[in-house]
Amino acid sequence: MLPTDVLEAAASELTDWQGSGMSVMEVSHRGKDFVAAAAETESLLREVMGVPQDYRVLFLQGGASGQFDAIPMNLTAVGDKANFLNTGQWSAKAIKAARTQGLDVTVLADEAASNYTTTPAQGSFTVDPTAAYFHYTPNETIGGVEFGYVPDAGGVPIVADLSSTILSRPIDVSKYGVIYAGAQKNMGPSGLCVVVVRNDLVGHARPRTPAVWDYKAMAESDSMLNTPPTFGLYLLGRILAWVKDAGGLPAMGERNHAKAAALYSFIDASEYYTNPVALDSRSWMNVTFLQAKPELDKTFVAQASAAGLTNLAGHRSVGGMRASIYNAMPAEGVQALIDFMADFERRNA
Ligand SMILES: *Cc1c(COP(=O)(O)O)cnc(C)c1O
Repeated sequence: MLPTDVLEAAASELTDWQGSGMSVMEVSHRGKDFVAAAAETESLLREVMGVPQDYRVLFLQGGASGQFDAIPMNLTAVGDKANFLNTGQWSAKAIKAARTQGLDVTVLADEAASNYTTTPAQGSFTVDPTAAYFHYTPNETIGGVEFGYVPDAGGVPIVADLSSTILSRPIDVSKYGVIYAGAQKNMGPSGLCVVVVRNDLVGHARPRTPAVWDYKAMAESDSMLNTPPTFGLYLLGRILAWVKDAGGLPAMGERNHAKAAALYSFIDASEYYTNPVALDSRSWMNVTFLQAKPELDKTFVAQASAAGLTNLAGHRSVGGMRASIYNAMPAEGVQALIDFMADFERRNA
């Protein structure tokens, strides 16, 4: 969900943005008002995330999935080595794309043995110092598995898919070479992908890289080589202002930690619900749970939906239930889910 305040503010100016008599979707993306709004979005992102001076912020299209291919194209030549961790479905997709792009991929740790309910222990793998980059997925959205630490990659650039955890808590951007995230989980509408890349990693794209995914070409054109997703950039700016007003990432982190802790402690105390994820790897954003009677999953989802608690079906590939409690979900929303779960248990256990 997105913050209601932001949606209402956007609705109120949908037909007349900044006195233009038009919506933000109708003005020219080259006009000075929109260019200023896009610059404001970037500067808010830099401020809220604490992006250091020697990083570029790019606003791209093609989603996080596009970056699975764009990262090898920008950072490597065919045959270069890259190291990965496989903690679930999104890392697996990134690995597959890197192989398609001709990289010599080594998977340093694969959590298949736990059915992807764990993250590798800190210090249990060593990044090859000759690798072009090291990739991991800090939060696996489908499995609800999140790293409690930033891996040490020696001097090798760390590339992180933060799609489902960006803006959820403070982050030290300087530890990463590339951060990328589809906007639609915690940052706004779909159609926009944020890439934060250290300057020294810009300018090495393979010759046949599509220009709209070439970090240098996009950096030089302020991400406007082609028409950017104007509404997405505008709304991201509003969401960043909302995060800032709410106390920034430290406040988001506290809120999100408290929300997740409440839900996990309810699940752990219950004899009817379980969460399969290791204690040190539980996601703050995507809380998965199973019930003792899986044949009632459809009933659970339907009754929850009727009670206003929507989108609770687990990903089609894993089943069970999943509560995605992104930044905009208030603590009361989590409490309403807990109350519903307790009631469902009383009626069905
Ligand atoms: C949703 C998601 C993606 C895919 O994002 P698209 O923008 O739809 O390509 C990739 N990685 C993670 C971790 C995700 O949660």
